[in-house]
Amino acid sequence: MTKNSDRILDDIRRDYDRLQLENRTRLEERKQEIFEKVPAYKTLLQNTRRAELSALYQKLAMPGEMQEGGSDDEETLMDQESLRRKKESLLVEAGYPADYLSGVWQCRDCEDTGYLRDAYGARSIRCKCFTKRLTERLSEESGLSELLKTENFDHLSLEYYQGEDLENFSRALDLCRKFAANPKDGYKNFFFYGNIGTGKSFLSCCVAKELLDKGLEVVYYSAGRLFDRLAAAKNAGRSDQEEDAGAVRSMIYDCDLLILDDLGTEWFNNFVFSELFSLINERILKEKPTIISTNLSLTDLKRIYSERLFSRITSNYLICKFTGSDIRREKARQRQEDQN
Ligand SMILES: [Zn+2]
Repeated sequence: MTKNSDRILDDIRRDYDRLQLENRTRLEERKQEIFEKVPAYKTLLQNTRRAELSALYQKLAMPGEMQEGGSDDEETLMDQESLRRKKESLLVEAGYPADYLSGVWQCRDCEDTGYLRDAYGARSIRCKCFTKRLTERLSEESGLSELLKTENFDHLSLEYYQGEDLENFSRALDLCRKFAANPKDGYKNFFFYGNIGTGKSFLSCCVAKELLDKGLEVVYYSAGRLFDRLAAAKNAGRSDQEEDAGAVRSMIYDCDLLILDDLGTEWFNNFVFSELFSLINERILKEKPTIISTNLSLTDLKRIYSERLFSRITSNYLICKFTGSDIRREKARQRQEDQN
């Protein structure tokens, strides 16, 4: 584990800080510009402020001290909605977009803080845009974006499969295409098992690409990397690393599609077994789709992991068997031949 890979959350927070600073500067510049070019806007703000103060004063003042309104201006306090409309119409009349002063943010929901306000007004709820950034970082980190340039349905070829191998692959392909076309149509999980190089990871990537293109959150991890990361955070006992692990955990539990590649290449120990079981179990309970791929046979799966896990998988996953020779080796051999 590199220290670097545990710094994702810090990086994201720094991005938000920078963004907010830029926003403040931009907003200030725009305000000055509008005050100069649209004097009516400035007047409106000043009058509103005065009306607010005088309303406040009247509320606080003792009955005997009630003062007559300090000015004859039309300063009745507008409700928020009329005020917003009035401001917008002034901007539009002057040739500016209606949201010139309200829309400096990339994300309006959290105003580029990354967090939404809870019932008490504190920014404590992670915004969707935060999750999106996190997914992007995690995907980047696991090399998914790089993989997806070549591993997608457009690059799919059946020329390496024959006979029963072709039948097996076509069945899996068919299921995956249907799922990818309508991921929310019925809850599905996939368990791909079989020899190395028979297209399991490739097919997972094809599905990932389709879902990402639909704007869904996809997280891809090889089992080894994922459990290393969780274990490192646990062993380090540092609060920031625990927080990172917490972020990873909430990603893998809640993303729209989790791809757990190469199950069986991780260390086998009780920590991994219990993390794996909760992960798979939770995602089933939440009806979040998962694709697991492994070179293990079903017998090994049952032998290595618990009976409990085995039955969770066999009763909730579409089990797809991949057979045939190693396509990667095949391709390498062909390249060699072409060169000669
Ligand atoms: Zn946001």
